[in-house]
Amino acid sequence: MILIVDDNQSNLYSLKKLLESKNFQVDTADSGEKALGKALKNDYALIILDVQMPDMDGFEVAETLAGYSKTKEVPIIFLSAVNTEKKFITKGYASGGKDYVTKPVDPEILLLKVKTFYNLQEQNIAMKKTQQSLELEVKGRRESQVTMKSQIEHFHLMLESLPQIAFTLNENGIVDFVNVKWYEYSDSDKEFPETHPDDFNIREELERCRKKGKALQMEVRIRNRETGNYRYHLLRITPVDEENSIKNWVGTFTDIDDQKKVEKEKDEFLSIASHELKTPLTSIKAYVQLLERKLKLDKESAEAGFVTKVQDQIEKLNTLITDLLDVSRIENGKLKITRKPTNLANVINNAIDTILQTHDENRVKIKRDGILPDILIPIDEIRIEQVMINFLTNAIKYSPNNNQVIVTTFLDKEEQEIKVNVTDFGIGIPDYKQEAVFHKFYRVEESSLQFQGMGIGLFICSEIIKQHHGNIGVSSKVDEGSTFYFTLPLN
Ligand code: ADP
Repeated sequence: MILIVDDNQSNLYSLKKLLESKNFQVDTADSGEKALGKALKNDYALIILDVQMPDMDGFEVAETLAGYSKTKEVPIIFLSAVNTEKKFITKGYASGGKDYVTKPVDPEILLLKVKTFYNLQEQNIAMKKTQQSLELEVKGRRESQVTMKSQIEHFHLMLESLPQIAFTLNENGIVDFVNVKWYEYSDSDKEFPETHPDDFNIREELERCRKKGKALQMEVRIRNRETGNYRYHLLRITPVDEENSIKNWVGTFTDIDDQKKVEKEKDEFLSIASHELKTPLTSIKAYVQLLERKLKLDKESAEAGFVTKVQDQIEKLNTLITDLLDVSRIENGKLKITRKPTNLANVINNAIDTILQTHDENRVKIKRDGILPDILIPIDEIRIEQVMINFLTNAIKYSPNNNQVIVTTFLDKEEQEIKVNVTDFGIGIPDYKQEAVFHKFYRVEESSLQFQGMGIGLFICSEIIKQHHGNIGVSSKVDEGSTFYFTLPLN
C-alpha cells in the first residue's frame, strides 16, 4: 500500500485517483502528524510526501520516520512546488527521501518512479523474509548441533561404562570411537585387535557385511596386549540407520573365553563318553544276534518278542550314541561329507521307506508331492537321508494326534537349487523359538516333557546342510503344524 501525504485535498484526491487507476492500493493523510500516526500503525511500501505543509513539514516527517525501526526502510518521494533549488533537494535526500519530484507533477514520470520504488520495496520485503527464515534455520541447526553433540557425548559415556570392548565406525567403516577397554587388545584407536591366524579376518568379514548393509556377528580370538594370549570374543557390529541409509556402526567384543572353555570340556566329555559307549554296545548287539540265532526261537513265542524288544532298544541306543558322536565330530570340524552325483528322489524314497518300516503303517501316512527332474546332484547320500529321516521322525513324533506328513519337492530354476519341505499338522513351534531349534541341545520347553529327545538332531541336520552349501529352516504355527525345509544347490 502507498501513503500519500499532502495538506491540499485536491492534490490528495488527484494523486489517489492516478495511482488507483494503475491498481495500487492507496492510503492518504492530510498532515505530517497524521502521516506519522498511520506509518507507525500500517505497513507501507512507499510514502509520497509533500514538503510544504503547515505545522510539520515533509522533511521533519521524513526525519522522524527515519528514527523508527518500523518505518526507516520505507522509501519516500518528496513532492514540492517551491524548493527546487539544489540545497532543498539535498535536504530532502539527507532526511531519508529516495527521490524528489517537483510540482506540477508529470503523471507519467511520477508513475514510473512509484512503480520502481514500489517493486524495489516489495523485493526488499521478500528478501528480508528470506533472510529471517534463513537466520531461523541457522539458529535451529546450531541448536540441534549442540543437542546432537551432547547426545553423542552421552552415548560415548554409556559405551565407556560397558564391561565389553565397545567402539563405533563411521559410514566408511573407519573406527571413530573406542572405549578404554579397547586398549587392552589394541594399541591403536584405528586398528582392530590382532586376531588368531586360524580365525577369520575382521576387516574382510566387515567389508562383506558393509556391502550387504547387514550386521556382523562372529566368534573370534583376539590377542591381549599384556598377557599375549588369545581370548575368544563374540564380535557384533550393527549398522545404525538414518533416513534409509547407514549412518554409522556400533560394535562390541564380549569376552566368551571362559564359556568356550567349559563348552570345550563338555564336548570332550561327550566325545569320550560316546566313543566308550559305542564299543560295548556293538558287542551287545553282536551277542544278541548270536543268541537269537542259537536259540532258534519260535517267532510267535514270548521269548522271541523279548529278543525283538531288546534289539529295538539297542537300535535306539545306537542312534543316540551315533548322534552324540556326530555332535563331537562337528565340534572338532571332523564331520566329513563325501559328495557323489546322486538321484535325490531315490534318497527321499529310501528315507520314507525306512520310516514306514519302523512305524505303524496304519497310523503314519506320508504323502509325496511335487516332481523332481531325473538329474544327479552332488550330495552325500547317507547324510541327506539322515536329514530326511530326522525331519520325518520329528514330524511324526511332534504330531501325536495327526500322523499325516507331506513331503514336497521343488526345483527352483532361478536359484539353481532343489527345495525339500516336510510338513506336519502337529503341535507347532512358537515364532520366537523357531530359529533356536537348530541350536545344539535346544528343545522347546513346552513340549520337552511330553516328548523324549536330546535336542541334537536338527543341529546335526543344519551342519550337514551347511556343508552342502544349502539352507535349512522352518515355518510353523502353534497347534497347526510345522514345515521344515532344506535346499541343495544343483552344482
Ligand atoms: P529332539 O527332537 O531330540 O528334541 P531335535 O533337534 O530333532 O531334537 O529338535 C529340537 C526341538 O525342536 C525339539 O525338542 C522340539 O521341541 C522341536 N521340534 C522339532 N521338530 C518339530 C516338529 N516337527 N514340530 C514341533 N516341534 C518340533
